[in-house]
Amino acid sequence: MADYEAQVVVIAGGPSGLSAAVQAAEDGADVILIEKNAAVGGAANMGMGPLAIESHIQKRQMIDLTVEKAYRMIMEYTHYNIDGRLVKRYFEQSAETIEWLEDMGVEFEGAYRYFTKSEPTWHIVKTDQGIGPRAASFMNKALYARAQELGVKFLLETPGKKILKDEDGKVCGVLAVDKSGKEIEIACKAAIICTGGAGANPEFIKEQTGYIFGKDMFNFAIPGNVGDGIKMAWEAGADKLPVRIEQAANFEGIDDLPQSVPNVLMQPNLLVNLDGKRVMDEEQMQNTTFLSNAASHQKGRVLFSIVDTSIVKNYMRNGVDEISMVRFNPDVSDFVEGVKIAEETGNKGLFCADSLEELAEKTGINVDNLLETVDEYNDYCDGYDEEFFKRKKYLRPLTKAPYYAAAVRPGGYGTVGGIRINENCECCDSNFEPIPGLYAAGADACNIYDDSYMFLLPGNSMGFAVNTGRIAGMEAAEYVQDED
Ligand SMILES: Cc1cc2nc3c(=O)[nH]c(=O)nc-3n(C[C@H](O)[C@H](O)[C@H](O)COP(=O)(O)OP(=O)(O)OC[C@H]3O[C@@H](n4cnc5c(N)ncnc54)[C@H](O)[C@@H]3O)c2cc1C
Repeated sequence: MADYEAQVVVIAGGPSGLSAAVQAAEDGADVILIEKNAAVGGAANMGMGPLAIESHIQKRQMIDLTVEKAYRMIMEYTHYNIDGRLVKRYFEQSAETIEWLEDMGVEFEGAYRYFTKSEPTWHIVKTDQGIGPRAASFMNKALYARAQELGVKFLLETPGKKILKDEDGKVCGVLAVDKSGKEIEIACKAAIICTGGAGANPEFIKEQTGYIFGKDMFNFAIPGNVGDGIKMAWEAGADKLPVRIEQAANFEGIDDLPQSVPNVLMQPNLLVNLDGKRVMDEEQMQNTTFLSNAASHQKGRVLFSIVDTSIVKNYMRNGVDEISMVRFNPDVSDFVEGVKIAEETGNKGLFCADSLEELAEKTGINVDNLLETVDEYNDYCDGYDEEFFKRKKYLRPLTKAPYYAAAVRPGGYGTVGGIRINENCECCDSNFEPIPGLYAAGADACNIYDDSYMFLLPGNSMGFAVNTGRIAGMEAAEYVQDED
């Protein structure tokens, strides 16, 4: 005899789970949501907002990005190595999802780019304190309130453990552990897995991606996101797809420093590896996925961004060249104080030296090669970047001590992918056959970037979470009604 009964059980209450629960309940299903933590919202409580394309907000801002263009962009970016039907359904639904969220009280500041070369798809949630980290927690609050209004039952501090199937292979329940540590069974006809990937599981990350947490991978992670849903789906027969890191470059201790420090050191100036050699057109550094990927291909999986005092002074006078939505203040006048704070607090990612030789010694960069690279680079600044074709406006010579360097390493927002789903968010086995009653959404099933997060369309992972949550919710509600 089961402890609880519902038509649909949603496993986890991040944006994908909350969206799934609201949508399934709006479509008439009786829903229970179980969440491991004491609060809902998941990793998205730290973020700013989801992607949408052709939203009324973009139209008002005269942004002419179309679903067709965005679809072609992502398909070409991934070499068509992804499920085009799923991407199409997600992108096509994304504009209406903004209105769906607005109807439950979410407000948006507007549609933004993350960095200059990205598209303005990032719908940043309005808060009572302006634009900034954690804005999307306001969206999660609205989803939670709407779910409660619709009668969704929430069981917090209740991690899901196992999907139960009947003799016909159809989902018939979910095993979980309640607050008191007791195993409970929830009978249901459909389960939607939304547990947010495995960002906090170093062993799983090493096994799936080869990265070693804290050594060559520095990803964000909320405690609890350890791959439970991926493992539950695999155990229930879902096909295994690669689990990837949602890459975003890491500059150690960045959050503890005044914004001016990372802001200066993430400008498109000289970037070298441990051999003292350049590896890319530094203009692309603003795309933090590209930067993280580039770092992961180097010895020690590290790159060093280097500036001299004349570059710093120029930025202090005129503001930085490039801003991003995360570091959007071009004013870096407190850079020198910021460096002092970094030194006083023992920051391990920032280096300051009175000569390039000393900088090489402190960072471990090959000194002869560094001197040669700087020499050549300074020559390019008078003419043309023969090595990587960087545009003239970003070519600033390094001539004046002190020199500053930041170590840039691979990092990320957690993991994406693992569970094979189709465009209806049904979990599929290795024959591409849906497992009756089993759905997945959000990071656990986000297989749409191939090997690299697509930052050119920002808001993409939260957008995927909310939209696939909705798709899973509507499909599950229809399925359980057909089963009754
Ligand atoms: C700092 C930061 C900023 C970000 N900013 C953005 C942004 O602005 N835009 C964007 O597109 N993306 C952003 N992201 C990524 C985005 O937050 C994620 O893609 C999104 O939260 C994924 O949603 P989800 O529902 O799949 O998982 P999550 O939001 O991670 O939620 C997963 C939930 O599952 C619960 N859970 C885990 N295991 C179990 C279990 N066994 N049983 C029950 N519950 C379980 C967890 O407690 C958690 O509540 C950001 C990420 C970080 C870390």
